[in-house]
Formats: sequence, C-alpha cells, structure tokens
Amino acid sequence: MSLPNTITVDGPAGSGKTSVSFAVAQRIGYLFVDTGAFYRAMTFLALEKRLNLSDQQQVTALALHTHLDMTPDLADDGRQYTLLADGRDITPHIHTPTVDAHVSTVAAMPGARDALLDVQRSIGKRGQVIMVGRDISTVVMPDADLKIYIDASLNERATRRYHQRLETGDAADLGEIRAGLEQRDTLDSQRKVSPLQQASDAVYLDTSAMTLQQAIDAMHQLILDWTPNG
Ligand code: C5P
Repeated sequence: MSLPNTITVDGPAGSGKTSVSFAVAQRIGYLFVDTGAFYRAMTFLALEKRLNLSDQQQVTALALHTHLDMTPDLADDGRQYTLLADGRDITPHIHTPTVDAHVSTVAAMPGARDALLDVQRSIGKRGQVIMVGRDISTVVMPDADLKIYIDASLNERATRRYHQRLETGDAADLGEIRAGLEQRDTLDSQRKVSPLQQASDAVYLDTSAMTLQQAIDAMHQLILDWTPNG
C-alpha cells in the first residue's frame, strides 16, 4: 500500500486542521509543517522591532532578511514544532492574542508572502510531509498528491479556541474569540493574494460534529483510501 507523499491541508482559523494534521503526521511518521507559524513569526518580529505594520516595504524587507526554519523538535510546553528565526527559538511568542490580532494584516502583503514561498516549497520538496495553511493546495504545492480542506462552523471553532485558552490558563471571552475568528476569516478569504479557498480537487472534511479523535481518524482514513491515480 502506498501513501500520498505530499499532503496539503487548508482551512479557516480554529477548524482543527493543525491539531488533526499534527496527530496524523505523528501516526504515519510524516513531517508536519504549520505554515501559519511563518506568518506568525513575521508578525511577532515586526511587532518586536516596532515596525509600522501597514508599511509593506518595511515588513517585506524584514521577511526577506530573516531566515526562518521549522524543525520537528518538541519541548515540554506542548509545542508541535520549533520555529527558528535566524537561529533563535521564537516558538513561545507566536501564538499570543497580539499576534492573532495582527497576523492577517501581514499575511495579506504580497511581498511578505513571496518571501515566505521559497522556504515553504523547499520544505515541501523533502516529501513525506503534511503541510497546513490557507493556500497550500492552491498556491504553495498545487501538485500535492492529496489535498484536504478542513472546515467547522464558526460557533464550534470559537468554542474550541475558548476551551484551549482556558486549558492553558489564559483569560478567555467567547464573544471576543468569535469576533476575532470572524474577522480573520473575512480578511483571509477576501484578500487579493492567495486567499483562503478550497482547491477544486481537495477533499472536504467538516469536523463540526466530530471530536478531535474522530477528526484524526477521518483524516487518517482519507490518507489510507488514497490511490495514486485518484
Ligand atoms: O493557521 P494560523 O491561524 O496559525 O495562521 C495564522 C494566519 O496566517 C492566518 O490567519 C492567515 O492570515 C495566515 N496564513 C496564510 N497562509 C497560510 C497560513 C497562514 O495567509 N498558508
């Protein structure tokens, strides 16, 4: 039985695509690549340097001059990878509410996206990879063997994020989280460059009514059912 060598997963914020893909990658021994982390890293670095986030040139220059890399190294803080910026581990800084609030602005900049394309494609070429994001099936790896679009209703996604925040001991407000996700959905799917959209040849997986375990099993099954000739 052969498995698809390259698997791409896209979907909106909070759809579970990252947790599900991470677990499936562990099961089948594939490299897991969360491309949202690259956009988050650029956002964190731009904020740290106090750049004006509406200044495309500054943010693009930062993206061009920063060497980002993702390794499968884990730590005891629940991380699913380690994100290095010029060799510095910035993984703990990229999932904060501040980065959440600004990342879609950075991700809408054509220059910043272009700068991040090469690193994503060269990691994809390593093969035996599950790469997750918004435009992976449509732009980054349009020739992937298996493409999946993971979705869930806005209410369900907001509830999941709310519980995640509570579990990590952070303050959480369901209404605020819901509004933040809705705003990010709009920005991500209506932007001009590489908007979030389902590739015409992607398999649609709605996890609204699934537990995490059920969603992992469902994605794993799609991989097992894959045949080289579609
Ligand atoms: O997946 P995650 O929520 O971590 O992604 C953060 C943000 O990065 C998204 O809201 C989106 O704006 C951007 N992104 C993107 N293209 C990708 C992955 C993420 O534009 N392939």
